[in-house]
Amino acid sequence: MKTIVLLVALASAAVVAATPSIEEILEDRLYLTDKPLSTACRMRLAGATDAESLHSYDVRHYRLDFDLPMTNAGYTCHEQVWLASNVPALDTFSFDFAGLVCDSVKRNGVAIPFTTPSGRLSLDLDTPLPQHDSTLIDIFFHRESTGQQVGYFFARPPTVLHAHAMTCGCPRDNHYWFACWDWPNDKAERGCMINLTVPDTFQACANGVLDSVTSAPGAKKTWWWRHGYPICPYLMTFSASRFSRWDTTVTNPGGETVPLIYYMWPRDSAATRNGYRLVPDMMTYFADTNRFGPYPFERFGMVPGYYGFSWGGMEHQTQVMLAPGYIGGGAEATICHELAHMWWGDMVTHVIYADVWLNEGFASWAECLYLGHLNGRAYFQGYIAGKARTYFTQHRSRDFPMYNPPWAQIYNYGIIYCKGAWVMRMLQFVEGDTAWEKPGVMYRALRAYGDSFRYGTASTEDFKRINEQATGLDLGWFFDEWVYDRGYPKYTLTWNKQPLGDSWLVDATLIQRNDTNSARLFRMPYPVRFNCDGESTLATFYPQDTLTRDTFLLASEPLSVTPDPDDWVLDSCRVAAGVEESPKPQAASHRPEPTIVRGLLHLGVDSRQHTAYRAELLDISGRKVAELHPGANDVSRLAPGVYFLRPESGERHAASNGKQAFRVVVAK
Ligand SMILES: [Zn+2]
Repeated sequence: MKTIVLLVALASAAVVAATPSIEEILEDRLYLTDKPLSTACRMRLAGATDAESLHSYDVRHYRLDFDLPMTNAGYTCHEQVWLASNVPALDTFSFDFAGLVCDSVKRNGVAIPFTTPSGRLSLDLDTPLPQHDSTLIDIFFHRESTGQQVGYFFARPPTVLHAHAMTCGCPRDNHYWFACWDWPNDKAERGCMINLTVPDTFQACANGVLDSVTSAPGAKKTWWWRHGYPICPYLMTFSASRFSRWDTTVTNPGGETVPLIYYMWPRDSAATRNGYRLVPDMMTYFADTNRFGPYPFERFGMVPGYYGFSWGGMEHQTQVMLAPGYIGGGAEATICHELAHMWWGDMVTHVIYADVWLNEGFASWAECLYLGHLNGRAYFQGYIAGKARTYFTQHRSRDFPMYNPPWAQIYNYGIIYCKGAWVMRMLQFVEGDTAWEKPGVMYRALRAYGDSFRYGTASTEDFKRINEQATGLDLGWFFDEWVYDRGYPKYTLTWNKQPLGDSWLVDATLIQRNDTNSARLFRMPYPVRFNCDGESTLATFYPQDTLTRDTFLLASEPLSVTPDPDDWVLDSCRVAAGVEESPKPQAASHRPEPTIVRGLLHLGVDSRQHTAYRAELLDISGRKVAELHPGANDVSRLAPGVYFLRPESGERHAASNGKQAFRVVVAK
């Protein structure tokens, strides 16, 4: 009974400000033009009639007016959903809605019938809504104080020091705190407005910026939060407690000031200043126009999660939720990860959960980048190697493709986060973006992806296509083996060497014996370093089958080999022990065994002289049939048979070995 009395009182309070017309709603959205928005956002909003929605209606805006007693887990809410029809005559439709009690529904101010079948709030419109026309739905609902704590959480002393109300509904528990289309594929193009009425001894925060705080009847205050950017339900949030606030700013590359607004419990004020001290540096790093580009929203901030918050952080748009144990420091990786989500996850959101690696892989990779920037290259290598170990551990018990993981595994740390970070790193390698701390073509592709899907949603195929456009590469094989298939390559590398004049010929074999829960073959290029008597030489295998045999011409004698010396590939590699090395020839007449080549012939680089080897391929009659250059040479068009390779790499070799050649057998 107590709950009902409270409900009536709160509902009547809510009615005072209720049922604005469409015009009034639009009036509310004037903040879209009087707040500084990035040019791209203006463009997006100007063309915001294009529905990215994949269902019968398209949500344009959510407005939520909550009244939170802060003494129990109940609340009342007046919700307004502004939506447009995607079908010729929208008459019946539903929102996701669970664990809540709907009291009444209105359309443009007039009551309409509703039902609440399991998990839904179904509405019948009095007159059908024509395609592209929009309407305003008012939903008056409440949450019982005894309701199950899903999506919305409330705790009070002595469980916690201060009463605390908050939401965290990722991925699909958001309809347990408000009525919504609880999937990422329908962003509210015009953003959201969350207004929170709480006793005046409490503070409340939500997405976006605080417009004002006004007095409300009964010793209460209303906190008016507005977010003018497209947003989907899992990124919406509010928190209320006895918070203190810390404001600072950071400057975007264009000179625009981005407010940083943090809420924390008063006892944590000093600790927070330490724990969050790197945020401006992180943001400056990511927002660099050569990296991700300017920070995409009107504000950034953080708020602690509820007591027992089981995740490290949650990337609610503009207001990250952080585990209470993380706010005092030592959680730079988590903070960095959540900040990176503002670009990858929030600005561009995976269209369906099958593509979840686009969010988590990107953010996990970004975390490695910044920590490497902060602590140096060796730290980076060690940090990302740790992610590989975590993935390998997961792989041993169970592996599945990153794309379209089982629903219960969409946030599998080893596969979605750690392998996801590695896939981004490997994509850098494949695209040739390998200079340390110098963003290159892969970052250009990433920014093109950001520009193409800014404030919208994207799929794995979108990301692949943008990368192919930016680099001119065919990346189908890469996504097939690393994203759409599972596992990783397990290599065995064997090699032997033969002197060739003052050069050395290396004959090496790379064998893949992958686990049964891995793709059979990874065509990933595989770098190896021959550690030479002199400077070392990097060479690369281009596997076309599970056994790849290649020939490399080195300037100095190789003494050992290091597979993947800069950790570009998520692999394990064993250099086989006890491989017979060919004895050095004792007589000039000795002819080494021919090298068998299938498809590609590789030449190394003279690392002592920093010059590229060149060579000629002669047929059995001494006629030149090909000029060879450093790296992979396609010899597949040559007829199978015996050829002679003659190094022609500059004066030193021309003088001493011009006539020396060795045999190559081109095989099919
Ligand atoms: Zn994440």
